[in-house]
Amino acid sequence: MKGLLVFTALFVAVFGKETFQGDQVLRITAKDEGQLALLKELAGMEHLELDVWREPTDLSTPVDIRVPNIHLQTVKAFLEAEDIQYYIMIEDLQVMLDEEQEQMLKAARTAAPRTTDDFDYSNYHTIDQIYAFQDMLVAENPSLVSKVVIGQSYERRPLTVLKIVTDYGRDTALTSILNKMDIFLEVMTNPDGFAYTQTSNRMWRKTRKPNPGSSCVGTDPNRNWDAGFGGPGASSSPCSETYRGPSAHSESEVKSIVDFVTSHGKLKSFVSIHSYSQMLLYPYGYTKTPCKDQNELHNLAKKAITDLASLYGTSYRYGSIINTIYQASGGTIDWTYNQGIKYSYTFELRDTGRYGFILPANQIIPTARETWLALMAIMKHTSDNTM
Ligand SMILES: [Zn+2]
Repeated sequence: MKGLLVFTALFVAVFGKETFQGDQVLRITAKDEGQLALLKELAGMEHLELDVWREPTDLSTPVDIRVPNIHLQTVKAFLEAEDIQYYIMIEDLQVMLDEEQEQMLKAARTAAPRTTDDFDYSNYHTIDQIYAFQDMLVAENPSLVSKVVIGQSYERRPLTVLKIVTDYGRDTALTSILNKMDIFLEVMTNPDGFAYTQTSNRMWRKTRKPNPGSSCVGTDPNRNWDAGFGGPGASSSPCSETYRGPSAHSESEVKSIVDFVTSHGKLKSFVSIHSYSQMLLYPYGYTKTPCKDQNELHNLAKKAITDLASLYGTSYRYGSIINTIYQASGGTIDWTYNQGIKYSYTFELRDTGRYGFILPANQIIPTARETWLALMAIMKHTSDNTM
């Protein structure tokens, strides 16, 4: 009887997951405005169930779309009929996901780390391992790091922020920043969505709050902020990946940060970290009107990506959101900037699409190392230019 139960549980775990067998990611390049318009139309055809990894924006940026196996024929026929160039960037998404899964399972078989020095930074981890890591970090460094719970996710997971107030003095540049400022780090901004990527759908993006009157779940937490909320560059359809939500700050994952930022009142820099595209972005996303600190933010972005590239040569583009990636309304850093947090940036980390959202684990450490250089540039500038 026990054996049967175990088997049943295993069955659910294996088959409860959405699979992406035979799904391909196509990289599509429009050669003129006419083709770009066709791609926008294509991306909006709901019956094709396309998952747009990189949206059609301008002629210099290719479009990446995950096409479900069953619609591949149709989409390819459409592109060929319109003479639009494309190539297959990911041949079979499920093969990549299986590899990722296998590596995680292999890593999980080693003993749980007893200290943060034992923690395997070169692998992806489960949500429980990440919560445990944060607690370990606090326990090991009680005078340096503390944990602040800023709220609760829809599924009642804690939204935790690490507060870092000082350093041992090993790194003089960091020490001088920490002499003047605190650093707050929210490791998981959407824990429900993150957990769901590991239990049910690896490609999940949104929160996990149900939408009344719709069978589609979740809101895009980067369209839910009170900055151009509801404007172009966000969807009003609960089934869309960029659904803005019923109202600004409707998601507790967003509202908790809003409350934290407003009650703190003295934040000078706010950095939001995403993937993928290799870009460093500053406001605005909802309007073409340049923000009033555009020059300074632009020059600092240039310095940050130059420092980043100095390590491994990774090349980043930079600029305002609307001019560099696409129009997006209700975005995080547009809101923080409008709150008076001048140094508001978003990173889109590696890569440029070869692996897209499935960045291999062996790139975690190099990505962290190079990104740290850019973060240091931003933090140092913030510290130097703040009283
Ligand atoms: Zn992003």
